[in-house]
Amino acid sequence: MNRVSILGIEIDDLDLQEAVNRINGYIEKGQPSMVVTANPEMIMLAEADREFRECLQQARMVTADGIGLVIAAKILGTPLRQRVTGIDLVTALFENAENKKHRFYFVGARPGVAEKAAENIRNRYPGVTIAGLHHGYFEDDSHLISDIAEKKPDILLVALGMGRQEKWIKDRVQKTGVPVSIGVGGSFDVLAGEVKRAPVWMRKAGLEWLYRLIKQPSRFIRMLQLPRFLIAVAVSRIFSCRQ
Ligand code: UDP
Repeated sequence: MNRVSILGIEIDDLDLQEAVNRINGYIEKGQPSMVVTANPEMIMLAEADREFRECLQQARMVTADGIGLVIAAKILGTPLRQRVTGIDLVTALFENAENKKHRFYFVGARPGVAEKAAENIRNRYPGVTIAGLHHGYFEDDSHLISDIAEKKPDILLVALGMGRQEKWIKDRVQKTGVPVSIGVGGSFDVLAGEVKRAPVWMRKAGLEWLYRLIKQPSRFIRMLQLPRFLIAVAVSRIFSCRQ
């Protein structure tokens, strides 16, 4: 299992199919496993937030969602083969679930959005079962946790925003016995058709972040983390070369 360490966080060097195969393995074993699709903002958050750092350390698989991590790995001289984004991973998991008969549960996004995402998925992948869903604006989650335990999904997708979703998985979900839980950020908004992904040429050029910035200028402050992240990576490389 190849991993690349970026500012102390281990990122798995794998392609989309390998990620899906590993998730199939976790489901077969039935061992609760958290999957994180990490980006530079998350690595920076982990520097400041110990609890979140523990989430990343405990995750069974951490993929590189975000061109910033691919660039960082190159700077460190340990290149990653490719990005595995949250939205590409969940799409591949829906395709895979048609054969494997895996059952999903969706938690997160504004009321109505997970429902719309589920409807689109059921139309597109008729063999996929979505055993339950819940929006992401709850206070007391005890009914939700009981419902997840009762419905016994194979894969739980959690879209509560970075940080919050991974902490919720670590603190609340793992004890339900769900084999695989994945923090998926804004993926339900995309699957519901509320938010459009960047055109393919922009994704290929590593410019998805620019598209999101143009569409959602409120993300500007968050995106300032990207240059800070790359500087921190470059500095860590210089120090590691000196040792
Ligand atoms: N969200 C939620 N509950 C909250 C805060 C956010 O369900 O209390 C949802 C929000 O509606 C959106 C997703 O979490 O669907 C976060 O999307 P974003 O693209 O900001 O993800 P991030 O980049 O933080 O992973």
